[in-house]
Amino acid sequence: MKALVVGTGLGGLATALQLAHQGWEVEMVEKHSTAGGRLNRLERNGFVFDVGPSFFSMSYEFRSFFEKLELPLPFSIEPLDPLYAVFFDHRPEPLLIWRDRNKLTNSFAAIEPDFSRKLNDFLHTSRQIFEDTEWRIVKRNFDSIADYLKALSSVPLKHLPKLLCSMWTHLERHFESEEAKAVFSLVSFFLGAPPFRTPAVYALLNYVELQHDGYWNVRGGMYRIVEAMVDLLQQKGVALHFDREIVAAEAHNGRLQALVDHQGHRWSADVFVINGDAAAFRGLVFKRHRYRQQTLDRMQWTLAPFTMYLGVRGRIQVLQQHNYFLGTDFRNYAKRLFQNRQLPAQPYYYVNVSSKNNPDCAPPNCENLFVLCPVPDLRYKSDWSDAQQFADLILDDLSRRCDFPIRKQLLTCTVYTPKDWEQQFNLYRGSGLGLGHGLMQVGALRPANYDEQLKNVFYVGASTVPGTGLPMVLISSQLVLQRIESYARSL
Ligand SMILES: Cc1cc2nc3c(=O)[nH]c(=O)nc-3n(C[C@H](O)[C@H](O)[C@H](O)COP(=O)(O)OP(=O)(O)OC[C@H]3O[C@@H](n4cnc5c(N)ncnc54)[C@H](O)[C@@H]3O)c2cc1C
Repeated sequence: MKALVVGTGLGGLATALQLAHQGWEVEMVEKHSTAGGRLNRLERNGFVFDVGPSFFSMSYEFRSFFEKLELPLPFSIEPLDPLYAVFFDHRPEPLLIWRDRNKLTNSFAAIEPDFSRKLNDFLHTSRQIFEDTEWRIVKRNFDSIADYLKALSSVPLKHLPKLLCSMWTHLERHFESEEAKAVFSLVSFFLGAPPFRTPAVYALLNYVELQHDGYWNVRGGMYRIVEAMVDLLQQKGVALHFDREIVAAEAHNGRLQALVDHQGHRWSADVFVINGDAAAFRGLVFKRHRYRQQTLDRMQWTLAPFTMYLGVRGRIQVLQQHNYFLGTDFRNYAKRLFQNRQLPAQPYYYVNVSSKNNPDCAPPNCENLFVLCPVPDLRYKSDWSDAQQFADLILDDLSRRCDFPIRKQLLTCTVYTPKDWEQQFNLYRGSGLGLGHGLMQVGALRPANYDEQLKNVFYVGASTVPGTGLPMVLISSQLVLQRIESYARSL
């Protein structure tokens, strides 16, 4: 049996690897010129940058994925502590968020009274949500909405209020200081939404972050994950074809016969796995009425990334590998960004410096800074002629807060606006994390990982189940494999 995988993002690579391991003949077609999708790499003047994902979490998902393939983890990781630094505009020193509980308690000593007890309570609830949903909801395929509702009803009732209230409200019940609430709400940005619009159940991510697994440094940079997987695929004889965008489909009798690329080349197979966005691909390539542009535009999409890749001469001592730069009024900031969809006058942003722990990623005595600022997607802001102005605003703010003249020491600077993200990886309207994770777009309500009309077509990745982020996408590849196996058995 032959499978064609469209897209070489983590979801595509992981599915291809599992299929090849089971003896399938596998071919991959990719629009971009390199593998990895959003998990990509940029090289400029001796600097190496991770293009998108920089946080490596839930390492146990990666370990167990490779164990099932009878392989050791094919890249090296080491735990981070501190996990990250949070810079508030009104505080002179960054707040260090440690995995070590005593150090974390010290960080909050002057900010949040009785912090240790409050954190224990908060993490206890977060852990229960994690344990009660991991196998019942997250790591499961649903065949129908009824099936999904049945699974939901098996989750202990005590979690129900956390489905209905926001993460921020949940945090308000546990902490008093704005700082503690802001810090522990940052995980909601991994879902591409602010804590005021993220259901409190996602506090399970706080348990993963602070207690269960923490964050890890991938030695040599995140792209080592892709390089390792591509090596394994090539050893198994999988062919990867780049610079080929799939634009049309040929179907007959409820089965897909071939996909057609922009050069008119036909790609045929027994089974097709789509790693492009599961909603947008259905609309734009399969021309499904249910996913036509108007409907896609009405769906809830995560924010778009505005990213900068800066090579800087000198070391910026105050920065850690992961850093958040926040202002003073989080609620108004989020409201302006998410409800009014305007560019912020004083942006909140994230800065990654992988060279802190990976000296190979920058020339000697230099640092590589990756700056990410979530902005409205292209539905709300399609003109990015002001990109340089916005980049300057962030550069000035960052220089001031780090007390380092970044612009003077800049050796290379590349900026990606949401338009670049859309063009490079077919991200719908430039949305960075794909479809949002509101209650109406998760579980059986998210675009399914099997096609509604074509029996031999399946989907993997951020916009199908279970959701976005590298570990979820890895789980997605295991869920889709179950679908493909069941289809193959039915033949
Ligand atoms: C800026 C940014 C920062 C992030 N940070 C983190 C983080 O720190 N940690 C984390 O866990 N996650 C993070 N994420 C999320 C994470 O990157 C994604 O959830 C994950 O990489 C998605 O993988 P995927 O396989 O679903 O899709 P993708 O990586 O998007 O791969 C899909 C591939 O399909 C190709 N494709 C699409 N359409 C076609 C077509 N028609 N023909 C041919 N090829 C096609 C695309 O070019 C792409 O290569 C971040 C995302 C962004 C954008």
